[in-house]
Amino acid sequence: MRLLVVEDDPDLARQLSEALVEAGYVVDTAHDGEEGHFLGDTEPYDAVILDLGLPTLDGLSVLERWREAGRDMPVLVLTARDRWREKVAGIDAGADDYVTKPFHMEEVLARIRALVRRAAGLASNEVACGPLLIDTKGARASVHGRSLPLTALEYRLLAYLAHHQGRVVSRTELIEHLYDQNFDRDSNTIEVFVGRLRKKLGVELIHTARGLGYSLVAPGDAD
Ligand code: CA
Repeated sequence: MRLLVVEDDPDLARQLSEALVEAGYVVDTAHDGEEGHFLGDTEPYDAVILDLGLPTLDGLSVLERWREAGRDMPVLVLTARDRWREKVAGIDAGADDYVTKPFHMEEVLARIRALVRRAAGLASNEVACGPLLIDTKGARASVHGRSLPLTALEYRLLAYLAHHQGRVVSRTELIEHLYDQNFDRDSNTIEVFVGRLRKKLGVELIHTARGLGYSLVAPGDAD
């Protein structure tokens, strides 16, 4: 899952980014409204954390422009304390949820988990696929109750497929959602990571749709 953080306070942006990376996401950061708007308009994020008080273009305008352009990714807005009008305006502009500053990082993480989960149509933090169980809260996975030793990238790959299970996900889509904007993207590496992940899973869950991409399918649900 790839997230965008739009926050002009450099310390806060860094804290958010570090906590989200620790929680298993890959994160792009923008420090003003123009840059944030551009990234959200051109890159496919699984969720966005958007501060409302931003230089160059305020957060509400950023959000309104995204929604007018049909960008429908989940957006969590950060609002100042005691600014209830700001909350109302944010929700009216298309925010999916808000957190009031100052906040506890755990609350932001829980709200982001919920937004990503809802966007995928999932009811719980645990995603199952046959014997595979993914705990999105702990950013870990197990097969038949046996914990899998996954790298951060392998976890992101598995979690992304699991959030879209039953659907073929193209290599391009995987690259867009597993790496941040600074990463030197090479679509061949996805095949290598899928190969490693299959070995670690030990069960046939990741199917290759030749020329199209990959899908996560529970045993017995194939075809
Ligand atoms: Ca601000």
